[in-house]
Amino acid sequence: MKEILIAGGGIGGLAAALALAQKGRKVRVLEKAAEFGEIGYGIQMGPNVCRMLDRLGVLKALEPAAVFPEALIFADALTNEEISRISLGAAFRARYQFPYFVIHRRDLHGGLLAACRQRQEIVLESSTEIKKFTQQDEQVTITCENGAVHEACALIGAEGLRSPTRQAVIGDGAPRMAGHYVYRGVVPDAQIVDRRRVNCMTIWGGPDLHLVQYRLQSGAVMNNVATIASRRWRRGEPDAGAPDELEELFARMHPGVRDSLRYISRERNWVLHDREPVTNWTDGRVTLLGDAAHPTLQYLAQGAQMAIEDAVVLAEKVAAAGEDYPRAFLAYQRERMNRSARVVLSSRFFGEYIHLDGGARELRNELARGRDPDLPWEVDWLYRGIEVNGRL
Ligand SMILES: Cc1cc2nc3c(=O)[nH]c(=O)nc-3n(C[C@H](O)[C@H](O)[C@H](O)COP(=O)(O)OP(=O)(O)OC[C@H]3O[C@@H](n4cnc5c(N)ncnc54)[C@H](O)[C@@H]3O)c2cc1C
Repeated sequence: MKEILIAGGGIGGLAAALALAQKGRKVRVLEKAAEFGEIGYGIQMGPNVCRMLDRLGVLKALEPAAVFPEALIFADALTNEEISRISLGAAFRARYQFPYFVIHRRDLHGGLLAACRQRQEIVLESSTEIKKFTQQDEQVTITCENGAVHEACALIGAEGLRSPTRQAVIGDGAPRMAGHYVYRGVVPDAQIVDRRRVNCMTIWGGPDLHLVQYRLQSGAVMNNVATIASRRWRRGEPDAGAPDELEELFARMHPGVRDSLRYISRERNWVLHDREPVTNWTDGRVTLLGDAAHPTLQYLAQGAQMAIEDAVVLAEKVAAAGEDYPRAFLAYQRERMNRSARVVLSSRFFGEYIHLDGGARELRNELARGRDPDLPWEVDWLYRGIEVNGRL
């Protein structure tokens, strides 16, 4: 049996390797970085992905490193007033059968990596960047920057936002820049001054900005994320999203919210991108997964979750189609396309929603105030999860 080759050893690539190995497939993961790893910040995981992590057999192993917040809180950054909360307690777990948790990216990626290392079907190769591929009748030939050549029965491009495999399959050029800039900071929990919401995941939304806080590593550290929708970027000015614009936009906020900028590092920022949903991301024995297929803004916190759902569905379709990879990949993308497109488009909407100002902000707050804490209506369709092989 020839190997399936996965380009990219991020969360999506590793989840796909694990899912395919569980179906008895031989897999090789090529990662361009010198080591398999992730950046040192937090990531949110909803019940839809817990269901998938459970199927992959890694959920239990992740639990000790996870934090299970009490509630998801939305607060107004101009007033520091709590506007609404979604309870993550018993009613939530009863509704979705799985919890919501937050975790350090390294712990999530590390958990997947450890599970991959235990599977003899999986070969992990770092410092190997895929450059191009050609397809023959029964195989794909992949050439790497270091001169290595691999013959595989199929290729899965999981190289993230700027996937070279995507360019060969779709050829839609650079991703769409949103004009949003993210600053992060992880600090010891003891440094947090306002402790009223430390057991929750809180989002403060303000005009053209928001701030997110939640604890990681059994509560030992607080993950802080500040995002701005750059006005300089919209006006085509230089220094868009620079640290002084972060300060400028937060200057109008409630002092208690502004004060949280002390937890945020100005050393680097992340520039947010997504892409328009497409109607095809497969070419014969080659397909895409995760951000390579459907990169999204982070406003629903679902990019990695979609990648993990992709992985489980992909492996099911491969198992069902035997050696017919083109058929398996078309069945996979058919099942994943609309759900991932809905995440991309809804995430754009939620970015706008939390960044409102003026009368629109007033209306948002009034409508949100009356909400039922036990019904997360805006993400219910997501959190209910997907059926795989006819079962949830
Ligand atoms: C600020 C922010 C917050 C976020 N929060 C959340 C959240 O709370 N929950 C959530 O689910 N998602 C979140 N996301 C989205 C999430 O980070 C991504 O969707 C996820 O990391 C995508 O995983 P991936 O494996 O598809 O791609 P990536 O993580 O980008 O991994 C791609 C891998 O491929 C490698 N690679 C690249 N090119 C090549 C090549 N040519 N050959 C070989 N290897 C290559 C890269 O080195 C990398 O390791 C957030 C994103 C941002 C920016």
